[in-house]
Amino acid sequence: MDLIKFKRSAARKKTKLKAFLTKLDDIVPEEMPRLVKETDAEVWQEVDCTTCANCCKTMTPTFSKADIVRIAAFLETTPEVFTKKWLYKEEAGDWVNKKQPCQFLKRNKCSIYEVRPKDCAEFPHHNKKPFDVYNDTFSNNLDKCPATLLLVDKLKKRIEEEYVW
Ligand code: SF4
Ligand code: SF4
Repeated sequence: MDLIKFKRSAARKKTKLKAFLTKLDDIVPEEMPRLVKETDAEVWQEVDCTTCANCCKTMTPTFSKADIVRIAAFLETTPEVFTKKWLYKEEAGDWVNKKQPCQFLKRNKCSIYEVRPKDCAEFPHHNKKPFDVYNDTFSNNLDKCPATLLLVDKLKKRIEEEYVW
């Protein structure tokens, strides 16, 4: 994954794709679940997360209490020691990483993959239903996740071709 090229592409397309997602808030094609499923499958033929890891490099997951207990046990430490070492509590009350890239990213791979936070396991949230409830998340991630940029770009082209828009 060429992240410099991705960032240039995201900067070029972001405004139009954000406008598309905003419009999608009001007009949702009936066939949206099928369109997203088919388009997302195409995206993962073209994007390989193991050559990217931009989410782990530039964003932080939210760690739930269950995540903290599970990861601490995996690392043979206590939730208290784990939290103090790696996390801080945001004003909204969420536990997040103190540093980026994530401390568990080793040679572009997650070193705690089996027990990673639920937030990481579900990222980039393309399968959330209904899709348009996550429009703000997708909008924010256009310049962070190459898969999301590609998904929204492909959906825009497809919806504009197939529907009165
Ligand atoms: S989820 Fe997105 S940002 Fe994260 S590694 Fe995959 S393509 Fe890259
Ligand atoms: S826990 Fe793993 S998947 Fe989640 S941000 Fe860190 S390295 Fe990435």
